[in-house]
Amino acid sequence: MKQDRKTETASNSASPYTGGITIKSPKELEAMRRAGSVVGATLAILLKSVEPGLTTKDLDTIAYKEIVRHGAKPTFKGYRGFPASICTSVNEEIVHGIPGKRVLKEGDIIKMDVGATIDGFIGDAAISVAVGDVAEEAIELMDATRLSLEEGIKAAVPGNRIGDIGAAVQSYAEAKGYGVVREFVGHGVGRFLHEDPQVPNYGRPGLGPLLRPGMCIAIEPMLNLGDWHTRILDDQWTVVTADGKISSHFEHTIAITENGPEIMTVPG
Ligand code: MG
Repeated sequence: MKQDRKTETASNSASPYTGGITIKSPKELEAMRRAGSVVGATLAILLKSVEPGLTTKDLDTIAYKEIVRHGAKPTFKGYRGFPASICTSVNEEIVHGIPGKRVLKEGDIIKMDVGATIDGFIGDAAISVAVGDVAEEAIELMDATRLSLEEGIKAAVPGNRIGDIGAAVQSYAEAKGYGVVREFVGHGVGRFLHEDPQVPNYGRPGLGPLLRPGMCIAIEPMLNLGDWHTRILDDQWTVVTADGKISSHFEHTIAITENGPEIMTVPG
């Protein structure tokens, strides 16, 4: 989602200096887990629901019902004017697609990005899903994107820096020849959808903010079959590849802990 750093950066006065990054208390981490589990449950239902003939609006309705069934709110609805509960982005659309009348057809790939707020905290995650049978190159791109996210998550440990995460994602993705989107990045997450720090999917090891236990971040690689450049459609939301080739997106909200990264948005 679009970031508004002036209004979206949470204060952190009670914590040691972390460069503006919030450290969640054990109680706050419990709320983050609840929000993450709503997102995970919603993604699991969306994953099962995707089939040719459905509209992207149908998927939005399915997600809305699941989110509110858990007593949560769809975080994205109304965020900077976003008109739906989830983002649905098809084929060359990368992120921030608006659900509508578009009918899914065999061979498409769809990215679904879900945010849920409960007890004042937010979970944020995304998956890419094949619609029926899709081209081998689309399956390979989606697999690589999911695995690049896993590489980024492995690097999200105390003592590492934000640059270690980006470097892990980028080196995995570029070794396979994919374009790594630069203009949109992951982010801190908690009481606000977009908190510090920014979490790019590229970078240099050892650079950027230090990772400490209690930080929560959304890591979200966007990998393109072709070039990494993007543009935004006239709806002012939908981000597409500049070259029109397909793109894949996976995202998890994770917590940095003493015992390693904790994924808070596991589907299921
Ligand atoms: Mg996100």
